Amino acid sequence: MRNYKCKSVGIIGSGIQGVCTGLQLIKKGIPVTIFDRHDPLSSEFIAASYGNAGHFSPYAVLQFNRPDVIYDLPKMLLSSNGPLALKWNYIPKMFNWFLHYFKHCNQKSMMHTAKYMHQILSLSNDAYGEIFQEIDTKGLVEKKGIIYVWTNKNLKSRNLEIKVRKELGIEQKLLTQQEVLDLEPNLQPVFDAGVIYESAMHARDPHGILKKIFKLFLNGGGKFIQSNVKNLKQININETAIRTEKEEYKFEKTVIASGAFSKSLTDQLGENIPLDTERGYHVHFKDKDHLISRPVIFLDRGFGMTPMNKGLRAVGTVELGGLKNPPSKKRIDYVIRCAKELLPELDHHEDEWLGFRPTLPDFLPILGPSLKNKNIIYAFGHQHLGWTLGAITGKIISGIVLEEKTNLDLAPYSSKRFY
Ligand SMILES: Cc1cc2nc3c(=O)[nH]c(=O)nc-3n(C[C@H](O)[C@H](O)[C@H](O)COP(=O)(O)OP(=O)(O)OC[C@H]3O[C@@H](n4cnc5c(N)ncnc54)[C@H](O)[C@@H]3O)c2cc1C
Repeated sequence: MRNYKCKSVGIIGSGIQGVCTGLQLIKKGIPVTIFDRHDPLSSEFIAASYGNAGHFSPYAVLQFNRPDVIYDLPKMLLSSNGPLALKWNYIPKMFNWFLHYFKHCNQKSMMHTAKYMHQILSLSNDAYGEIFQEIDTKGLVEKKGIIYVWTNKNLKSRNLEIKVRKELGIEQKLLTQQEVLDLEPNLQPVFDAGVIYESAMHARDPHGILKKIFKLFLNGGGKFIQSNVKNLKQININETAIRTEKEEYKFEKTVIASGAFSKSLTDQLGENIPLDTERGYHVHFKDKDHLISRPVIFLDRGFGMTPMNKGLRAVGTVELGGLKNPPSKKRIDYVIRCAKELLPELDHHEDEWLGFRPTLPDFLPILGPSLKNKNIIYAFGHQHLGWTLGAITGKIISGIVLEEKTNLDLAPYSSKRFY
């Protein structure tokens, strides 16, 4: 094994980015401590990495900073029945985020984001493949493809997505309505056409997978401290103090992998990074997972369903409303309504959950050192794709921590782009 100089690493966050980063570092013989206010092995763990839709989506290169959505935005935001919603009390706090968003909402930025999402997304399944060789994923991961369906209402947007994916060489198979129904006969034909990404996988239990990766980390000698990190302080260039509610711990290097909550820590370092959250919801329909064989996403509705061990998980909507507002009953009702539109036999639901997608205004994550201290490394902002990108993020961030050479172009993921 190479002899690395790094003496200790503290990671804040035991979501999928933190745990995968911890695992990679432990494998290289580095002492690592992960901090989280919730124990990932407990039922208290309700992070985005627990409640997501479970899609491994290496094809999903196009994000929401695209010129075709900008004209529809006001209408979508004002409608309480659509896929996008606002908590009005939060709008003033999102001013800076929106300023950056509008700057990045054009053809050039859209293609820049697509190119650099593609760079990491195209490596994402292989990175998980390496981890899955070490854990038993039986009953946890399935490879049956992922289907998206749509109506003829927004064909301009659909054609753009198909074109960009084609340009980037992404495998996609367009389907007629009948071809979708042949694959998923229980669906109501309320859509006009679709696409299947045949090599995509889905998790039947994202939390179950995360727990297994976390146990690998612990078995490799990794430490975990359950505590809320209150403070992050640079003592000198080679030492950072992580202060929890009870104690202070010192590390040579620190990784901020705190998802949508990372901003409170980066603000303390004097970097005003425009990170915010796109809130999303899920519910389960118990014992109804047999109704579909693979995830189905209804693009017009901004919602999808994944067959999982807990039942059929219906997931979706984007709500701009920050981290502190309470869950919206209306949003949950929306998700349930959308699920019943596609599968009318669904009845009672359970487990209403609100989660926080960590999103930057150009929809690229930040993967790289803080601009103020190269020994504090950022690993957040994975928006709708953080589950897919967990394993590859772990590899990239551990490489940055250990100052390894890489063939990847990592400059576009630096926080520098916002200054
Ligand atoms: C509704 C929904 C559906 C989604 N579906 C998909 C999907 O199908 N595919 C996909 O690829 N992605 C999906 N995502 C996105 C994905 O879930 C997230 O991008 C990803 O989980 C983020 O991982 P993370 O490790 O950065 O953050 P998180 O999972 O949020 O973990 C961050 C952790 O940091 C801890 N933490 C934060 N601050 C502190 C502190 N100060 N002290 C101690 N601990 C702290 C939190 O407790 C938390 O456990 C979805 C997200 C949502 C909300």
